[in-house]
Amino acid sequence: NADLNSVDEEIMQSINFELNRQQNQIELIASENITSKAVMEAQGSCFTNKYAEGYAGKRYYGGCEYVDVAEKLAIERAKKLFNCNFVNVQPHSGAQANGAVMLALLKPNDTVLGMSLDAGGHLTHGAKPALSGKWFDAIQYGVNRDTLEIDYDEVKKLAHEHKPKLIIAGGSAIPRVIDFKKFREIADEVGALLMVDMAHISGLVASGAHPSPFEYADVVTTTTHKTLRGPRGGMILTNKEEIIKKVNSAVFPGLQGGPLMHVIAAKAVAFKEALQPEFKTYIDNVIKNAKVLAEVLQSRGCDIVTGGTDTHLMLVDLRPLGLKGNKAEEALERAGITCNKNGIPFDTEKPMITSGIRLGTPAGTTRGFTEKEFTQIGNWIGDVLDGLVKNPDDNSMVEMKVLKEVQELCNQFPIYK
Ligand code: PLP
Repeated sequence: NADLNSVDEEIMQSINFELNRQQNQIELIASENITSKAVMEAQGSCFTNKYAEGYAGKRYYGGCEYVDVAEKLAIERAKKLFNCNFVNVQPHSGAQANGAVMLALLKPNDTVLGMSLDAGGHLTHGAKPALSGKWFDAIQYGVNRDTLEIDYDEVKKLAHEHKPKLIIAGGSAIPRVIDFKKFREIADEVGALLMVDMAHISGLVASGAHPSPFEYADVVTTTTHKTLRGPRGGMILTNKEEIIKKVNSAVFPGLQGGPLMHVIAAKAVAFKEALQPEFKTYIDNVIKNAKVLAEVLQSRGCDIVTGGTDTHLMLVDLRPLGLKGNKAEEALERAGITCNKNGIPFDTEKPMITSGIRLGTPAGTTRGFTEKEFTQIGNWIGDVLDGLVKNPDDNSMVEMKVLKEVQELCNQFPIYK
């Protein structure tokens, strides 16, 4: 039972380098966060050895009494956190959760209506290269050209035209509050089911900072690793017994084999953390920090899609500076700031180039950055982008200067003390 370092030095080293990277870079990828040591301890536990096909009390394997405790705790805590009746905590990821809902509620070639990837939706909502786009008749809505917010008129029009069996609300780059009530009304008009994918905003929903979808949605999916700050994974929630029955069969044996019990234990830990009053403070700070970051970037000449944010993320339109998303992402990474290039609505650039970047504050806020640090971060981003405009071929002077200052800030905010 030798430890990792003596068994596999190369992997140990890659983990150490990654820890060092996370410590020394400012993480602005909106879908990432920094879990607690407690979450990682549960995820790195002996539960990884255990097969537990089935559900608590009804397993296809013996020796499940302790994993049953963990899964029941995860379910009970998730129900409390979101004030809902039924939860399946077994999906290995957000994509699996969405796939399981489709397997549970749809037949191949059924019509689904989801938000297009370019407008801020997710691959699993009916994008062409994904299973959801290949095996279903996927119709896609977008955002309004003027407001750049979800085009509810288009949702309504497409719903009446195509009569989808399932309407999907939610996405990966939506900076504004989503009107679940409107989606419900449209779904009711055409007799569709409504699925809300709250992957990005589940931490905000849990804390009350974003309206809850549970009054309106037939079924809700989420990841557990974004604003919810748990281990990587997925989850499906609903208030309807007939839906959870179908969902449970779709997750297992429909789509997955053995659940990842170590991850489920870590989900339970994360939900316990999210039930504490400090989590609400954390999410309030995430949103405050995002607003400040957006304002600083506006003052530095960037456009923020929809003019700001109500959530943890923003889409930065770089066209006023004449920059491309890929170049900005690379320059910022050289300066110690990690983010991702992102298409902006109606982008004419290719997905590997883009006219924008997506920024989020969940990870930085977890390590303790406040509005003061995010003001500084916004100005560093402004400096790097200005430098890139002036010297597109060699911005190294600015990038090196910012990198040094980023490192000093990161040293003051250790991610794991
Ligand atoms: N749904 C939304 C809205 C997402 O943003 C994501 C991930 O980015 C997913 C689903 C998929 O989650 P996963 O990467 O865990 O499969």
